[in-house]
Amino acid sequence: MRIGTDREACAGAGMCALTAPAVFTQDDDDGRVVVLEREPDGEDAEAARAAVRLCPSRAITLSD
Ligand code: SF4
Repeated sequence: MRIGTDREACAGAGMCALTAPAVFTQDDDDGRVVVLEREPDGEDAEAARAAVRLCPSRAITLSD
């Protein structure tokens, strides 16, 4: 699994960082998503999938 993000679409809501803190964080300046782990596996991959569902801006995508 590989994670993609659209920083233009990101609203900085932070759900991704709360849901998958090993995978996502937020930019200190603008609050937008920053990917910490581009290819997570195991529990981190499950958390990343949950973050995709919870992101209000649909700014996170997953690809195989
Ligand atoms: S949950 Fe979505 S909108 Fe919120 S910071 Fe993460 S990517 Fe951005």
